[in-house]
Amino acid sequence: MSYQSPVRVPFVDLALQNQPLQAQLEQAINAVVRQGNFVLGQALADFEASFAAASGVRYGVGVGSGTEAIALGLQACGISAGDEVIIPANTFIATVIGVVKAGAHPILVDCDPQTALIDLRACQQAITAKTKAILPVHLYGQMVSPRRLREFAAAHNLLIFEDAAQAHLAHREGYLAGSVGKAAAFSFYPSKNLGALGNGGMVLTNDAAVAQKMRSLRNYGAPRKYFHVDIGTNSRLDEIQAAVLNVKLPHLGKWNQLRNSAAQEYDAVLKPLRNQGIFPIQNQGGAGHVYHLYIIRVSQECPVDRQTIQDKLATRGIQTGIHYPIPCHLQPAYKYLGYQAGDFPHAETLCQEILSLPMYPGLSNTQIQEVAESLEYLLRTSSPAVIAC
Ligand SMILES: *Cc1c(COP(=O)(O)O)cnc(C)c1O
Repeated sequence: MSYQSPVRVPFVDLALQNQPLQAQLEQAINAVVRQGNFVLGQALADFEASFAAASGVRYGVGVGSGTEAIALGLQACGISAGDEVIIPANTFIATVIGVVKAGAHPILVDCDPQTALIDLRACQQAITAKTKAILPVHLYGQMVSPRRLREFAAAHNLLIFEDAAQAHLAHREGYLAGSVGKAAAFSFYPSKNLGALGNGGMVLTNDAAVAQKMRSLRNYGAPRKYFHVDIGTNSRLDEIQAAVLNVKLPHLGKWNQLRNSAAQEYDAVLKPLRNQGIFPIQNQGGAGHVYHLYIIRVSQECPVDRQTIQDKLATRGIQTGIHYPIPCHLQPAYKYLGYQAGDFPHAETLCQEILSLPMYPGLSNTQIQEVAESLEYLLRTSSPAVIAC
């Protein structure tokens, strides 16, 4: 095994946010254990109310995961077999799974190469008589422009369903993530901006009928016990996870601010690397970007290829990631959708160029400078003549 220095800049550090809350978390979990109601109890009702209120939305319905939140949320909005739903080609695969599990047909579109967000002009060309909804993904924590989204949806009579799994409490143009359209899906996977100690998700909506349908769908299709009006499924956010999330929610705003200032520090220290072909994904949303991830593009102009950069950073104790290496339309499971390489050139290029740098609340400026200096050093010391095969 080759020598690697100890991790100095981890990709994420969950202990940093959980440890100060350890006593409170144990207390909240113990309370659930003592009280003995583990599914659809008071902790969930409290969390649904507080997360919805924090996001400026009337109703929250907790489910088992973000993936289920998309699948059930679309169904609750009346999306069904034969309907087409427009989604970006560059997203986490769960966005596609959600649409397919709802019984609908995903129509993929390309992204804006600067922001990596769905390109509304490309959406326009994807509309057919069957198009029912647009499903924007607030990728990396930056919201797709709510103003432009709403204009677009209104012009084409489409429903908006947000995938806000990476954008808890993000805001833009006066809208909070989850409040832009008919309904929205969130994930509380441990590493999300608001993470449980296991899986969890939620649908937010201002529509009472959608909320009611959601409560039925997540609970065997039963609006009341042993009376089944929908096929539904079993997908509830359990009491222990809800109790954990009740402890963590009050800290979310502060954690998001820490992410945003870390991103600003990255922007500043990485600026000199632009002339070496290193470009951060653009923030066009301003202060409301909650930086679930901080991404740079290692462009064609960069003298060193991405894999080498990732490997060399690793030997210096700096962990990085790629979100995501293969666009959805080129994944084997979705061959049946009929897309090919070349269909979404911006998404495909991004997948080859993006690199996720360490990002979490509490990442220090010293660590960020360390990342920048390491990058600068390895670019300076690498021979541009070496081409990776
Ligand atoms: C995490 C994530 C999901 C899925 O959430 P899970 O809770 O993991 O099922 C959906 N969409 C996006 C963009 C995500 O990042």
